[in-house]
Amino acid sequence: MSQKAPRRKSAVTTQRAVAVRGRSADVGRGTPSPSSWSLGEGQQIPWEYAPAPESRDIVALKSRYGLFIGGKEVAPRGGQWFTTVDPATEEPIAEIARATVKDVDQAVGVARKAFKRDWSTLPGSERAKYLFRIARILQERSREFAVLESLDGGKPIKESRDVDVPLAAAHFWYYAGWADKLEYAFPGRNPGPLGVAAQVIPWNFPLLMLAWKIAPALAAGNTVVLKPASSTPMSALFFADVCRQADLPAGVVNIITGPGEIGLALVKHPDVDKVAFTGSTAVGKEIGRAVAGTNKALTLELGGKAANIIFDDAPIDQAIEGVINGIYFNQGEVCCAGSRLFVQESIAGPFIERLKDRLSTLRVGDPLDKNTDVGAINNAAQLAKIEELVEAGVAEGCDIYQPACELPARGWFFRPTLFTNVAQSSRIAQEEIFGPVLSVLTFRTPAEAVEKANNTAYGLSAGVWTEKGSRILSMVSKMRAGVVWANTFNRFDPTSPFGGYKESGFGREGGLHGLLAYLDLDGGH
Ligand code: NDP
Repeated sequence: MSQKAPRRKSAVTTQRAVAVRGRSADVGRGTPSPSSWSLGEGQQIPWEYAPAPESRDIVALKSRYGLFIGGKEVAPRGGQWFTTVDPATEEPIAEIARATVKDVDQAVGVARKAFKRDWSTLPGSERAKYLFRIARILQERSREFAVLESLDGGKPIKESRDVDVPLAAAHFWYYAGWADKLEYAFPGRNPGPLGVAAQVIPWNFPLLMLAWKIAPALAAGNTVVLKPASSTPMSALFFADVCRQADLPAGVVNIITGPGEIGLALVKHPDVDKVAFTGSTAVGKEIGRAVAGTNKALTLELGGKAANIIFDDAPIDQAIEGVINGIYFNQGEVCCAGSRLFVQESIAGPFIERLKDRLSTLRVGDPLDKNTDVGAINNAAQLAKIEELVEAGVAEGCDIYQPACELPARGWFFRPTLFTNVAQSSRIAQEEIFGPVLSVLTFRTPAEAVEKANNTAYGLSAGVWTEKGSRILSMVSKMRAGVVWANTFNRFDPTSPFGGYKESGFGREGGLHGLLAYLDLDGGH
């Protein structure tokens, strides 16, 4: 499968894309270039951000990457390769092995052998040593991983550097701490590993999702076969090198690359004991059907359409930042993104104006530039999906606002977008867009806010902004969402469980809940 890149649109054509049925985007007051300080009364001091690109030199790329099976890099049996590309430039990064079903079989077999022979027989304190080593190596190589993650996925370097990589290391630190304390974690029980875990992860947080899955699995004594998304395989393949560097016994971690059908073959493999998936609800349902009727344990972390609720007594400056972080972080390609904003009617007008002003200061562009706030959309198909849903919003009569920022001429970019005059029934209020697009709605009473927030097929996350602690507690207890943030948004911690209700999936990752998903409390295998 080659990620052949269709030529993307310039700023102007993307602008036109949303100007359908005679309605055009309300282009914002943002001054793209140069930026300026206002002295009031129309006086402006223009100034320009200097480019601050992170060097790519820290990442030594090979032209080809094989599969990582049994501690070695091996060529795919079918002899086929696909290309992973940089979404900001559409340039190829490397050729990646396309696994076959036979490769899947071999990887699961090797993982089974490593489980029986090595990993399940090691005392927890020994397993912990490896996990601590991995955490330390990730920290030592953090700059390399941050650059790699931004290069392959399109996310701003300041996010991969300050969020993805440190959090990935933190998950290994955290679960390393539990590896020799399982009987204290679940007192009165006899916790043991499940066996071989099949793990399929998405492209929005490639290294972090790998850590969410591999760290608890290994701490609990399981071995794993992991398949990264085809548009972002690089950090998983570099993680294979971390495993080698940590002297992890061969076969404890195996990485296979290839299309969705290889993911399906992996989760269907009869010698797999546990399946963990993060990705779209449609694929999650397919995996659920494939696993139904077997003894495999299953956790599914799927999509979301989170409500971010602003009451009139909220700390407004913080709330504006929370809304921006909630939806424009990682270009909105976040399953728990605060994509539906509910503002109390009494403050809606001024709040939306402030939000538009803040939107106009976001810098969209080169993911490797340290000043970039919004990077590239991960892949061409995702950009097409965002464009289609934004057009649907315009066609349904919602009012669109986009700041007047210039987009790079190459690569897959989309302007931060805000819709007002949105109906509850609108597609942009119901469907997961997975892009930098915010739908703004209003409410009058707390009861109405709860009713509207829960009016979704999903139930992954939500946010509440108010200075009243009692109102926070009341709202949290009524909202059907796995995670509810209060006066903040998109905060993650390895000690805290994360997961959804309804179409957002089931099972929890993180914390003791995440460990439990990889354990049999009655002795295990
Ligand atoms: P998918 O759910 O298709 O992909 C997620 C992972 O599953 C990838 O590794 C993918 O492999 C693999 N996969 C694809 N099909 C199958 C299958 N039939 N059986 C087993 N594994 C499979 O997400 P997309 O990349 O297609 O994104 C589509 C939409 O999903 C997005 O627009 C967004 O709305 C949502 N999404 C949600 C995420 C979340 O975190 N909840 C993350 C990513 C997307 P491959 O990459 O090779 O296709």
